[in-house]
Amino acid sequence: MKTNTKTWPDARGFYGDYGGRFVPDTLMAPLIDLEKAYNSLSDKPAFWEEFNALLKNFVGRETPLQHARRLSEHLKGAKIYLKREDLAHTGAHKINNAIGQILVARHMGKTRIIAETGAGQHGVATATAAAQFGLKCVVYMGADDMARQEMNVFRMRLLGAEVMPVTSGSRTLKDAVSEAMRDWVANIADTHYLLGSALGPHPYPRMVRDFQSVIGKEAREQILAAEGRLPDSIVACVGGGSNAIGIFSGFVGDEKTALIGVEAGGTAIKPGQHAARFSGGTPGIFQGMKTYILQDADGQAENTHSISAGLDYTAVGPEHALLHDLKRAQYTSVNDDEAATAFHLLARMEGIIPALESSHAIAFVCKISAKLGSSHLMIVNLSGRGDKDIGIIQKYDGGKE
Ligand SMILES: *Cc1c(COP(=O)(O)O)cnc(C)c1O
Repeated sequence: MKTNTKTWPDARGFYGDYGGRFVPDTLMAPLIDLEKAYNSLSDKPAFWEEFNALLKNFVGRETPLQHARRLSEHLKGAKIYLKREDLAHTGAHKINNAIGQILVARHMGKTRIIAETGAGQHGVATATAAAQFGLKCVVYMGADDMARQEMNVFRMRLLGAEVMPVTSGSRTLKDAVSEAMRDWVANIADTHYLLGSALGPHPYPRMVRDFQSVIGKEAREQILAAEGRLPDSIVACVGGGSNAIGIFSGFVGDEKTALIGVEAGGTAIKPGQHAARFSGGTPGIFQGMKTYILQDADGQAENTHSISAGLDYTAVGPEHALLHDLKRAQYTSVNDDEAATAFHLLARMEGIIPALESSHAIAFVCKISAKLGSSHLMIVNLSGRGDKDIGIIQKYDGGKE
């Protein structure tokens, strides 16, 4: 079995059976332009030097790999390390991708950046990166999401971005994606579409993975320096899949390191009540790619639910679909209650308030740690900080515990 992630995707953008570019003709030309530009840039060491300098000086990398001593002792099991993406500028891993794509856009001579956003986290990362380079930035956001996430709308506007309300369809993320696509087709000459996770049509899943692979590269060096050996397992939450594929990519060639992705189990694994694509989903085509999606018998996308907006999505990135089928990675889910409990636990045990997304990874660790024993070495990707989720937790459980 080939497990070197650099061998995927193939020349047509496929990860085994998954991925590809299933888009209308009007989108083919801009995607091929982007692919060509990225292929040529990614061969140039100077491009990566520019990227790494920005990650260091603007994003604050490298992020620490911290031994979670009290959490490990409390769970009476594995020795747990946290990869602290919550300490990256803007509070999550999303900025790594935003900076990378902005650089690609600049090299292509684009002056205008557009993006879609659900809860607003990707919109904030994009607006931040665009401001750093003085590029015009337009973010499409469902009107209902805008009402729910007022602070992030305000943040984006502070950063100079224009936030465009989308009032069609369900007035949420998938309608914002459609609107952003429409804008891109109409403004191809000066506009780059900055997609937020390791999904969508080729070359996005590859490009986003490459930009997020800095997480895995750093974590591998850091654990070798701290422990003198590779970890037994890596745990990460999976929304679209970018933080997970970023850290997995550093270890995917190390067969003895287990890779575990944690999806949103919501309130129950029943249609409309969760977002665990590998528990209730089947392969299909959605928003430009072939992958596991939550769909009904007629192939209509099902509604999803999660306490965490970042994990609440119908489809998963195509590289995860391949790793799943190859059994190189395992995918599991935890529910809303378990994630909320883990949120509180990490705050008290380590003095770190985690994002609700990341709390899903912590919740899974709580379930299995005791079974693993103290010789088990584990890294959990702490994808982001939880300041954005304090209001949600307050409503959910009144901040009890
Ligand atoms: C957006 C987000 C996620 C989910 O996105 P992925 O592409 O799956 O990484 C996870 N954690 C945080 C903190 C996020 O903001």
